[in-house]
Amino acid sequence: MQKEPTKEELRQLIEKKISLVTAHIEELEELTRPVAPDVAIGRVSRMDAINNKSVNEAALRQARTKLNGLEHALENLNKTTFGQCSRCGGQIPVGRILIMPESTRCMRCS
Ligand SMILES: [Zn+2]
Repeated sequence: MQKEPTKEELRQLIEKKISLVTAHIEELEELTRPVAPDVAIGRVSRMDAINNKSVNEAALRQARTKLNGLEHALENLNKTTFGQCSRCGGQIPVGRILIMPESTRCMRCS
């Protein structure tokens, strides 16, 4: 049985995750800049660059969604409904909250 984290511990955890995700988003924004039709890189490496770009764009969307969820979690931290599944109303296990505080649903409902 995992020890129940305090609100303060959760707040610190969420803030730490927010700063990590924010740094990751900045990195991905850098990587998803439009690919220049540079003659110096051959056709194949340009295709590579475009493929990588779409992978990075997908990662960027995911990271932004995660950031929204984390900010939302931080706002809701002091509400009585924090840690409750938004679908079934059941308690979300502490272990799950610690791993993904942005999650608003229990394992079963997500
Ligand atoms: Zn649920």
